[in-house]
Amino acid sequence: MTDQTTRLAVYPGSFDPVTNGHVDIIERGTKIFDRIVVAILVNVEKAPLFTAEERVATAREVFRGKPHVEVDTFQGLLVDYARHRQANVIVRGLRAVSDFEYELQMALMNRRLTQEIETVFMMPAEPYTYVSSRLVKEVFSLGGSVEGLVPASVEAQLRAKHRRLGAQVSTDGNR
Ligand code: ADP
Repeated sequence: MTDQTTRLAVYPGSFDPVTNGHVDIIERGTKIFDRIVVAILVNVEKAPLFTAEERVATAREVFRGKPHVEVDTFQGLLVDYARHRQANVIVRGLRAVSDFEYELQMALMNRRLTQEIETVFMMPAEPYTYVSSRLVKEVFSLGGSVEGLVPASVEAQLRAKHRRLGAQVSTDGNR
């Protein structure tokens, strides 16, 4: 439960997987808000690399020891989830101008859906302005280093996932 004075923010996204850009935004957010919920979208249409359960476990591991950060999942309308959590704020990260158009549309649509929740945009530290989960996955899958772009535990998860996928491919190939 939150009262009128508690600033509860929801930070929604796919987090497939968590990157240091996400971590940067969360760390900045915890200085402004009393509590932040990392809300992982369970999107049945997108085909994520990590399952929702894996993404939750990874995010919990990354934010372990941060009592003001909670990890949860949601589906459906974000504003319904935010209302259900009694959140006053939706946090989104803005990396570059390219993010702006989509984010503006989303923020204005969400405002149309509810007047009770404000969207707050936060800029990451410069080294993370080009980091996205998609690019991290692409570089890693092609054998490039993602050191410093994701937490060490996420790098380990990526390695394990690719080992499993590799094993699966070779087993399928042997059939
Ligand atoms: P989406 O599926 O919307 O791309 P993501 O998991 O990639 O969701 O990101 C969730 C939120 O985090 C979005 O607001 C996105 O702009 C922001 N974000 C992602 N990467 C970074 C980064 N490197 N720096 C700042 N914000 C970021």
